[in-house]
Amino acid sequence: MLTKIYTYERRRKIYSKIQKQIASKFGNDETFAKHWEDWRWHIKHTIRDIETFERITGIVFDDEFRRDVSLTLDKFPLAITPYYLSLIDREDYRNDPVFIQSFPVPQELEVDPREMADPLDEDKDSPVPGITHRYPDRVLFHISNLCAMYCRHCTRKRKVGDQDSIPGREAIMQGIEYIANTPQVRDVLLSGGDPLMLSDDYLDWILTELCRIPHVEVVRIGTRIPVVLPYRITDKLVAMLRKHQPLWINTHFNHPREMTSSSKRALRKLADAGFPLGNQTVLLAGVNDCPRIIKELVHRLVENRVRPYYLYQCDLSEGLTHFRTPVGKGIEIMEGLIGHTSGFSIPTYVIDAPGGGGKIPLNPNYLISLSTNKVVLRNYEGVITTYQEPNSYEPIFCDRQCAECHLQLKLKGADECQATGIVKLLADHDDTISLTPEDNERMVRRGDD
Ligand SMILES: *Cc1c(COP(=O)(O)O)cnc(C)c1O
Repeated sequence: MLTKIYTYERRRKIYSKIQKQIASKFGNDETFAKHWEDWRWHIKHTIRDIETFERITGIVFDDEFRRDVSLTLDKFPLAITPYYLSLIDREDYRNDPVFIQSFPVPQELEVDPREMADPLDEDKDSPVPGITHRYPDRVLFHISNLCAMYCRHCTRKRKVGDQDSIPGREAIMQGIEYIANTPQVRDVLLSGGDPLMLSDDYLDWILTELCRIPHVEVVRIGTRIPVVLPYRITDKLVAMLRKHQPLWINTHFNHPREMTSSSKRALRKLADAGFPLGNQTVLLAGVNDCPRIIKELVHRLVENRVRPYYLYQCDLSEGLTHFRTPVGKGIEIMEGLIGHTSGFSIPTYVIDAPGGGGKIPLNPNYLISLSTNKVVLRNYEGVITTYQEPNSYEPIFCDRQCAECHLQLKLKGADECQATGIVKLLADHDDTISLTPEDNERMVRRGDD
């Protein structure tokens, strides 16, 4: 099949024509001019059923597909903003990255026995409702259960559309109190749902409470709003957020097609207001599992001042089987990026370990071998090279007595965080020589614990 290749300019014109059509189906010829850039209009007219989807797009499904999809909808609901829907290429919608990310398919009900409702154990690692405290110095804080668009690849699919778990003021206050009472938390990641689905005033209240806590050094917002509802990034919202610097914002573009003029405008507002912007992409079969697509995506991101942050291997969540790729695809993509393009456009490829193990970074191997004075490496071109180690290096014995060390850290409480994991094995000040799994049979035979 010969597919049409559109320039961005051409695509912009097509979008604007389609957007006018869509708006008129919700009202009349003036609706586009009057309401299209009003985010509340999009929320009010969010497409939530198959019939409306067909009516607005003009796409007609066959009866069998319609019936199967409605079964999926009983378990995993549908929501697409008119804006995001307008990006679907109707002529080839089955292969369209926007369609695939937003429209349900029967395969969502095929659950692989190894898939789980909560693969990351976010609920188990939760000291109070809404907080996931997994890493020593930072927490994930779910402050909203609302999303403008329901991503079919959502890792928290179990909660999507679950009206009962929308946290109220009291629940939020519990989370804030937990953070206030846990001094090691220096970084709070606001997520959900989408935090930017909350009203400006409500979010302002949460941010004000968090900024009041002395040990909270940074707050981050994870949001897909610039992708699915860019008009939500209003001047008023940005002015409110600015009061709460340092605030980092991470968004979620998965395909270069999502970088439209509306999204660019939203990103420009955020970048101009001084928020460091990052992006988290999920590797999705049939959407972006191609080194060239990811490279194009990261280039469009940095061009709009967004730093690619993570490339996620798709989680083992229920209903995501058809989106999962082998890990080799991610490594192949990283191989195609590292060295081939600007360092700051390269995300870290991670697997979020099932069972709450956290994010594990993966990279192609560059270390080929080493001796006591040489390291053998290969570069992105396949050139094999050596690095000569220093002949005289005085290792610094670290007993965590920073006050007595000639390296000028002089940090009070430098020993506040206990070394854990591999760091503990490497440390001079800790005499642990091995980490042994709890149920190691040899240790059981020995009678050790
Ligand atoms: C991803 C995540 C974080 C943040 O991790 P970073 O690597 O610092 O971005 C924090 N808590 C939980 C539970 C997470 O899943």
